[in-house]
Amino acid sequence: MLKRMAVGTAVAALAAMALQVHVSAQQQAQQGGAPARRAVGGTTAGNDAYPTDEQWKNSKEAQALVSKAKAAAGNDAKLQSRFEKACTVLGPQRPAVLRQNAGLPAEPQRQVDIVKLFDNFYFFGFNTVGAWAITTNQGIILIDSLNTVDEAEKIIEPALVKAGLKPADVKYIIVGHGHFDHFGGAPYFQQKYGSKVVMSKLDWDMIERPNPNARGPQANRPLPKRDVEVVSDNQKVTLGDETITLRITPGHTPGTLAYYIPVKDHGKQIEILMLSGANITPDRASLDAFKKALDYAKQQKVQALINGHPGLFGDEIGWMEQVRSNPNGPNPFVLTTDEFAKFADIMKDCAEARLVAMDTKKTATN
Ligand SMILES: [Zn+2]
Repeated sequence: MLKRMAVGTAVAALAAMALQVHVSAQQQAQQGGAPARRAVGGTTAGNDAYPTDEQWKNSKEAQALVSKAKAAAGNDAKLQSRFEKACTVLGPQRPAVLRQNAGLPAEPQRQVDIVKLFDNFYFFGFNTVGAWAITTNQGIILIDSLNTVDEAEKIIEPALVKAGLKPADVKYIIVGHGHFDHFGGAPYFQQKYGSKVVMSKLDWDMIERPNPNARGPQANRPLPKRDVEVVSDNQKVTLGDETITLRITPGHTPGTLAYYIPVKDHGKQIEILMLSGANITPDRASLDAFKKALDYAKQQKVQALINGHPGLFGDEIGWMEQVRSNPNGPNPFVLTTDEFAKFADIMKDCAEARLVAMDTKKTATN
């Protein structure tokens, strides 16, 4: 029987600012070396994925959608705080990006000890990026794998052991999108334990193309070898008694994945949604895919949203500490199905608002 486990927090300050390097390297690549106007969290479209502040403020259509989203949040404090994060010109962004834009010094990356978020679902890694383990009756599914092979060996493997899990039981690693902070550790498990790596076909293609902008350790980073390709919406990965449903939500990368994951919360079966690329929707096609992914979540009666990077929609690291210190209390990630449905509508309207604000500019200047 699974018992909720509370393990102590070991917070280790690490010198490496992998995320910051990642963000700024990508921006320079996108902008031909020109200084970045603002940090936008590594989307392939860069600043072009978002309206300018003026477009955002001056688009009546965008602001009408913002007002609609605000009204949907009503006086529900959980929804209000999610609205505040979702309904901005850059949308929900990881704290490191927001700090960079505010001219604040980067927060050091620190390790977060493994935490059991649900009866069969664990988080481990860093405050800036993490990975997850889902336990089944036939082994473990990992979601993402941190930045490097070294981190897989020194962080993921010991974390699994600490939680009483066997690293050799990792049968699948589903990589949310083809950036190194998600696939970096995958080759370690693939080579050592024969774990199968799952990624969208589009992102397999992307990571296997030579990248002329990659420098230093990035250029020589080992890639996982192609095992399983996600090619269509609602494709499943099944291991024992667990089935994860996947959809493709392009925007952050061409084949970023959304996951629908059944978990147990204090013995109760619930469905959670994970968005690997948050909600970056630089064009109509990506916005449509994003909306469909959220509509599907509503249909599946999803109750919690988990992000590839903590901190997009709330104090997710703090929420994890709350779960760790009070494992039998209510889980701060979990909403009612009704609240989640409203949250999904808020995210859709705010993403639509960003796109229509950009469209306004395009029409005006053409
Ligand atoms: Zn990424």
